[in-house]
Amino acid sequence: MTYRTSIQQMLDLSVQKLPGISTIDAYKLRTLKIQTIADLLHYYPRQHLTFKHTCINEVTADETVTIVGKLVSHQISSSRSKPNLTLQKWQILDKSGSIGCTQFYNHPYYQSHEWRTKQQTLYQPGAIAIVTGKVKVDSYTQNLVINNPTKIQVVELESAKAACSSIIPVYPLSKGITNEVVRHCTQAAIGYAPYLEDPLPEGLRGQFELLELKEAIANIHYPTDQAILDAARRRLVFDEFFYLTLTMLKRRQAIRHRPSLPIVPTGQLIDQLMSILPFSLTKAQKKVANEILFDLSQSNPMNRLVQGDVGSGKTIIAVIAALSAIESGYQVALMAPTEVLAQQHYRSLADWLEQLNVSIALLTGSTSAKQRAQIHQDLETGQLSIIVGTHALFQEKVQFQQLGLAIIDEQHRFGVNARERLQQKGKSPHVLTMTATPIPRTLALTIHGDLDVSQIDELPPGRQSIQTKAITNRTRHKAYDLIRQEVARGRQAYIILPLIEESEKLDLKAAIEEHQRIQEQDFPEFQIGLLHGQMRSAEKQTAIAHFQTGITPILVSTTVVEVGVDCPNATVILIEHAERFGLSQLHQLRGRVGRSIYQSYCFLVSDSKSDNVKQRLRVMEQSQDGFYLAEMDLRLRGPGQILGTQQSGLPELAIADLTKDEDLLEIAYQAAQWVLKKDPTLTCWSALQQELSRRHKFFDLEPTVVLN
Ligand code: ADP
Ligand code: MG
Repeated sequence: MTYRTSIQQMLDLSVQKLPGISTIDAYKLRTLKIQTIADLLHYYPRQHLTFKHTCINEVTADETVTIVGKLVSHQISSSRSKPNLTLQKWQILDKSGSIGCTQFYNHPYYQSHEWRTKQQTLYQPGAIAIVTGKVKVDSYTQNLVINNPTKIQVVELESAKAACSSIIPVYPLSKGITNEVVRHCTQAAIGYAPYLEDPLPEGLRGQFELLELKEAIANIHYPTDQAILDAARRRLVFDEFFYLTLTMLKRRQAIRHRPSLPIVPTGQLIDQLMSILPFSLTKAQKKVANEILFDLSQSNPMNRLVQGDVGSGKTIIAVIAALSAIESGYQVALMAPTEVLAQQHYRSLADWLEQLNVSIALLTGSTSAKQRAQIHQDLETGQLSIIVGTHALFQEKVQFQQLGLAIIDEQHRFGVNARERLQQKGKSPHVLTMTATPIPRTLALTIHGDLDVSQIDELPPGRQSIQTKAITNRTRHKAYDLIRQEVARGRQAYIILPLIEESEKLDLKAAIEEHQRIQEQDFPEFQIGLLHGQMRSAEKQTAIAHFQTGITPILVSTTVVEVGVDCPNATVILIEHAERFGLSQLHQLRGRVGRSIYQSYCFLVSDSKSDNVKQRLRVMEQSQDGFYLAEMDLRLRGPGQILGTQQSGLPELAIADLTKDEDLLEIAYQAAQWVLKKDPTLTCWSALQQELSRRHKFFDLEPTVVLN
């Protein structure tokens, strides 16, 4: 056995091997996913309590102070003159001196044997205590004392180092486990920190001024001062970001190195498309289209994300890419997260493509068995050039003759695996993903680290900004008046009801009742449509068609319209319970209007008194900038709320904070690039490679299994 393996084995020992850790403690730790000594060392505090303490020889009378020191004596006595009075006395010693503290109790309970024994176990001489209280001059001895301290707490810090520290770790906990237990355990484990090997190459540590791992670990738990705590945290946050971005970059590298067939179109189909389009492309659209065409012409697969605010015209970009692939003899899959959006894409694409003699079909969960069989066959024989669909495209029976390009719209609605799953339907096809939810740069680096990003940073000409107003139920009538006015002028309106997914049935009932109420009481003069996720596919199609053709000038809808739905004639959107949505989602919803040259309006209804909600709605009133809103959303709600980890594919971050540690993320990103440049295979850094796979096991770099 080599020295290194024996050390690793020691760190991999069960926590129960540590002195003073009982089976019960070990069992409790398991609820925190801690089993080994190494797990304990890597269980970082959530925060630290800093006790700003005064040296005992520096305290002065009438001042409230906190002192930290060793308990040198502890006694309980009864007053001779007053029978009910009990006195508990402590003598505390620090490096500078000692001071006495006395607590007075005036109740017979404090004379009980039970209470006294408990106190004696609690305050054992030698223990470290933190005392806060007001300093007085004892009238009898003239010494400075602390009488009736507001707090006296024994802290379970046993090592000498921790004894002089007054920074105490506070750990994330689960039910049935206290901070005292975790502190006790990390105390016991901390002696093993010096055995931790540092997987980071020394050169890299030097270059980015990072603490060594063993020092970082020891000091993240029991720092001696704030400066070393900051340095320890910096190193560990760096690690989290570093391994994450390294994984993403490696993944990108792996994808890049797969061979793929270059797509070099003659451009005829695109020219034809341009001639039938009722508009010309914006400068931004042209730029992005060219970036895509360049990628497609390369012999390695494209892996590009197109970001563009709602209404910036991403669909046409997808069509241009699709036509290039089709012209070169390949098939294309276009996937959307909702049936409503897939249907809409199908309709608008079919409109254009039929004029160009390109075959297209729609495949969703509600496609009939007969149609489905036909589609499967046509895809396999290559009869069908482009398939538009939902998750149904993942199904095993969907096989292509030669898939050349996979497009995923509203990619933020899918996990990272969606890309891979669709890609596996062909031999390394090119991949184009699109999103209207711009995610903050920090998140983009982590989640999309493996993608090239194109930006449509311009809206089609003539768009006006949407007048946005937060209202309450009391002022709702103003919005209703405006809806009436707009409908009278031939425009249309959405009324959005938020649904809580957990209780679909209840919600459904609420949606149906609300629709009826709005129809009968609020707008009896207009025909009101209803759209919700539980409707059958054909019903949804009818509801949308009726709205798009103006049969129902007002549509009451759940958030199924959130992404992508395009009805340019709609100019008002009223969002009920706006407090239930995040900024990015509100922005998406608001993007359903303002899709034409008409002035549009957005009303955010909320009676919430919460300051945070009020602030969010104010931000909505003031900004139409998707990027700014996404940044604000991250600040106001935190990353967890914005992207479910599961959905984003982003692992839980134990210590890094995406809202505060942006700078470190940048540095980690640079470091990851530096490492890969030096050695793309990481072969010369085996420890680094091991650590990488330990941390990101779930990110298989070259997935070969088809998930289903
Ligand atoms: P996104 O998917 O980016 O939200 P869409 O692709 O649905 O936006 O486009 C929004 C609307 O703008 C559609 O009605 C589309 O036909 C129209 N549009 C797209 N590009 C242009 C353009 N260059 N000029 C005018 N209208 C455009
Ligand atoms: Mg779209």
